[in-house]
Amino acid sequence: AVGLSKVFKGPRSLFHKASEVLAVDRVSLRIFHGETLAIVGESGSGKSTLGRLLLQLLRASEGDVFYQGENISRLSNAQMKPLRRELQIIFQDPFASLNPRMTVEQIVAEPLWLHNILPNAQDRQARVKELLTTVGLPAAFSHRYPHEFSGGQRQRIGIARALASQPTLLLGDEPVSALDVSVQAQVVNLLESLKQQFGLTMIIVAHGLAVIRHMSDRVAVMYLGQIVELASVDDIFDAPLHPYTQALIASAPLLSPGVKRPVDLLPGDMPNPSNMPSGCRFHTRCAHANEQCRQVEPPLENVGDSRQVACHRWTELQRSRTAVLVPPP
Ligand code: SF4
Ligand code: MG
Repeated sequence: AVGLSKVFKGPRSLFHKASEVLAVDRVSLRIFHGETLAIVGESGSGKSTLGRLLLQLLRASEGDVFYQGENISRLSNAQMKPLRRELQIIFQDPFASLNPRMTVEQIVAEPLWLHNILPNAQDRQARVKELLTTVGLPAAFSHRYPHEFSGGQRQRIGIARALASQPTLLLGDEPVSALDVSVQAQVVNLLESLKQQFGLTMIIVAHGLAVIRHMSDRVAVMYLGQIVELASVDDIFDAPLHPYTQALIASAPLLSPGVKRPVDLLPGDMPNPSNMPSGCRFHTRCAHANEQCRQVEPPLENVGDSRQVACHRWTELQRSRTAVLVPPP
């Protein structure tokens, strides 16, 4: 994706001009075949919007999306249809995303007739049973309705539906955040094994880092519509460069409960995106902000060949951290 932006217009009234929210601002990124890329950020960071732009579920206000070398951002809905088969989404809320009046069989089979994959009803039934088994549900459940299932089971139904058209790319929009913690790991494990089994490329949108640590190859950290850091999952967790990434990691739930955090690393709330801070967007919450930060927007720069960071001071801050770690002579 190159230079993707998305502006949402707010409601307009007689007395107020429609407000404009820049949800995604000039984002460029590349997703590699077979990888899992996590897009992480607080709510309102633009992460879900970016995911939808990449899949063309939303059209960008500016910028282009390329899929296997082809620019797909100007395709009509009809031209887009064969690609829809390949680009599938799993929604956050398994309760809201399944039609309550459809049986599991109808829900999972829908993409099969929609894309004319299996025109024969009997073939579809057989395929639905196979898909249910694939996601760890008994094939005999196919005549039940969504309300007869638990949250984790419903998410499995959503996954079966997404897999029906044999996609190459699967976007999970916070695929486990609505589920009980006890069920989250099961669904994460399922997604991982499906990825291996079908050679999928995955994009996982998440607000928590815990979920994505074990299932992603690279992580893009978003803040107010922009990517502020992009790196391998190990670099993000072990050596984060951007102060926002550092704060996110430090404020992630601790593994040993009971241990208190020394300081609040992420003070205040995210500013309103309709009233964007000048310069570095993170400066209102950054402990390292200086005058340059308040005035000049830091570019997303390449660090080595596989990571990117948008911070004026990352080299300086990295030096001072290293200095602390080196024992005095
Ligand atoms: Fe903080 Fe400045 Fe870096 Fe922004 S550019 S993250 S304000 S140090
Ligand atoms: Mg969201």
